[in-house]
Amino acid sequence: MEIQNQTNQNSDSNNQNSNNTNAILTNTSDTYSRSKCNVQNPDLSDNDIVILAIETSCDETAAAVIQNGRTVLSNVISSQIAMHTLYGGVVPEIASRKHMEQINQVIEMALSEAEVTLDDITAIGVTYGPGLVGALLVGVAEAKAIAYAKNIPLVGVHHIEGHISANYIENPDLEPPFMALVVSGGHTHLVLVKEYGEYEIIGRTRDDAAGEAFDKVARAVGLGYPGGPKIDKLAKEGNLHAIEFPRAQVDGFPYDFSFSGIKSSVLNYINTCEMKNIEINKADLVASFQNAVIDALVSRAISATKEYGIGKLAIAGGVASNSALRLSIKEQCEANQIQLFSPSPIFCTDNAAMIGVAAYYEYMNGTRHGLDLNAVPNLKLGQRV
Ligand code: ADP
Ligand code: MG
Repeated sequence: MEIQNQTNQNSDSNNQNSNNTNAILTNTSDTYSRSKCNVQNPDLSDNDIVILAIETSCDETAAAVIQNGRTVLSNVISSQIAMHTLYGGVVPEIASRKHMEQINQVIEMALSEAEVTLDDITAIGVTYGPGLVGALLVGVAEAKAIAYAKNIPLVGVHHIEGHISANYIENPDLEPPFMALVVSGGHTHLVLVKEYGEYEIIGRTRDDAAGEAFDKVARAVGLGYPGGPKIDKLAKEGNLHAIEFPRAQVDGFPYDFSFSGIKSSVLNYINTCEMKNIEINKADLVASFQNAVIDALVSRAISATKEYGIGKLAIAGGVASNSALRLSIKEQCEANQIQLFSPSPIFCTDNAAMIGVAAYYEYMNGTRHGLDLNAVPNLKLGQRV
């Protein structure tokens, strides 16, 4: 996730800053995505556990209704990407303001599309970390208000546990234990999911997250923000072996990742070409970069799954929607007799359905948060606050 410093971007007077921001906030038309429900017209009984889930950790305002843990009755996402694109990355201040503008209507849409009312809701699930503090606070405050007004339980959810839980939606037979490769804008982790709600991190990035590397390279090549999907598309036209970028190993930590070396090599390559007046083949460049990142991700995910003898690997997070990654990991899993689980792309990037699924298992495990629940921007995976 690339975060922009709004003050640096708009160093004019404060007045002018807020005028600019207001213009953008009001001029940008709002788009909602409401895809992928796996049931129509639910038949709710009194025994059903129905979770209303809220997600506002970064630049998507999202709400969803989940029945009994794995059935998505509605999944509404209002994306702010168009607005942040103007700045080349997410501007935290704008993200919070936009969440405040959107949160009520997104929740109303989620309830109405699920054909339920707040009276049908058993508990509220909400992302309380990690993420941008101002953005998280909007969702947390909203969830607390609903929980208080309707006198129903409040369940805080870890954003990355939500990403992993996205795998349960379309794979009814998936149960822990399994290995999860979490690749998003802010995180790159290999996680052993031992039980519902029980996680052990066995590998992590030492520097950039995979999605961050995609976004930075895309910007250097002039593709704009967000970079991942643009690199994914352009790489299809390129030769993935045109340039050999380094695959870093972290000594003594076979499952850790490092992407800053690959990113620097790409930047050096671009500088050298520019200095020597050599025309850059962008498609070859991004295909080779993408191939190096995928190699690092897939090789470690496969060897960790084999080493731990689990036989099941799930992928999660925005980068998990990358088409070349999906293909490569599928081939490697087949070659190694590993069962692969992957959410549809809409459940890979930020959404509230995944938060509702994670909230359900937390709720069943007895987690209940009080009205003192706060946003925790650097919440650790598996940590309970
Ligand atoms: P976070 O939760 O950390 O904000 P997300 O899970 O929302 O991140 O994922 C966003 C990241 O995923 C961005 O860095 C984006 O570039 C990357 N991404 C999205 N789609 C693709 C894709 N098709 N290929 C590679 N990266 C992608
Ligand atoms: Mg995310």
